[in-house]
Amino acid sequence: MSFPDKADTHQQVINGELIHPNELKSPVCLQTASVIVTFVLILAFVGCYTNPVTGRQYAVITSVGEELRLGAQAFTAVKTKETISLDPEANARIQRVGRRVSTAVGDQLPGAQWEYVVFQSDELNAFALPGGKVGVYSGLMNLVTTDDELAAIIGHEISHVVARHGGKRMTEATLIGLVGAAGSTAMNEKYGIQKRDLFMLAYGGISAVGYILPHSHEDESEADVMGLQYAAQAGYNPYAAITLCEKMGAASGKSEVPAWLSTHPSNAQRIADLRAAVPHFVATYQENRRRYE
Ligand SMILES: [Zn+2]
Repeated sequence: MSFPDKADTHQQVINGELIHPNELKSPVCLQTASVIVTFVLILAFVGCYTNPVTGRQYAVITSVGEELRLGAQAFTAVKTKETISLDPEANARIQRVGRRVSTAVGDQLPGAQWEYVVFQSDELNAFALPGGKVGVYSGLMNLVTTDDELAAIIGHEISHVVARHGGKRMTEATLIGLVGAAGSTAMNEKYGIQKRDLFMLAYGGISAVGYILPHSHEDESEADVMGLQYAAQAGYNPYAAITLCEKMGAASGKSEVPAWLSTHPSNAQRIADLRAAVPHFVATYQENRRRYE
């Protein structure tokens, strides 16, 4: 979902409540008015984040500091729970590709303390958390045949972090909670999970209790475009995003649906969108590839 900007919301309140004060006399209207006033007050305190790559704007209730803290905590928890791969080849590849993608992201991710870890598991999965914490499972590492494909995965995942999609989702859950639907408190009650786990869910990772939430279609499209930009700036072939998507699609035909596909629904439309977008990043790729030859 998306939120109206602060000015629009304010205007609606003026039109709906202040210009017709008689309506406020009934208790129901008073209750509604107090919810709306609370909603507006919350929006007034919530930062409006502007995506540095796409220019898209949305409300984010969590501060950058809180996201960094929760990201570091959640990553430590995953490292404790999962087995870290010691495969020298996979580790060399993720560090080599990760370093270049991190350089491309640069100061668009303030406070990053980059960390790239391969987790030993057959799962086809990857995730990134605030602070530049990136995890790729060995199953997915084995599926990618080139550094370009790995750059497509890392670029996409880190784009969710730069875009603060997790903070945006937590904000949406919190604001929905204020108007009576399933909010973060309700989710905590329903699933019995802690904020750190909710945070993992919000970032599309698998929480300690194994729940998965898919990203929204809009956030996915945004991360796809941003991912192409970062991969191309890092000198990786943006066409690899398409071959990766096709490989994941083929893998999804097998008995078990890959975990990454559960959080990143892939379909013909997504591949078509990538095909349309990739040519715009070829010049950037060719320019930057030389820097790494
Ligand atoms: Zn995604």
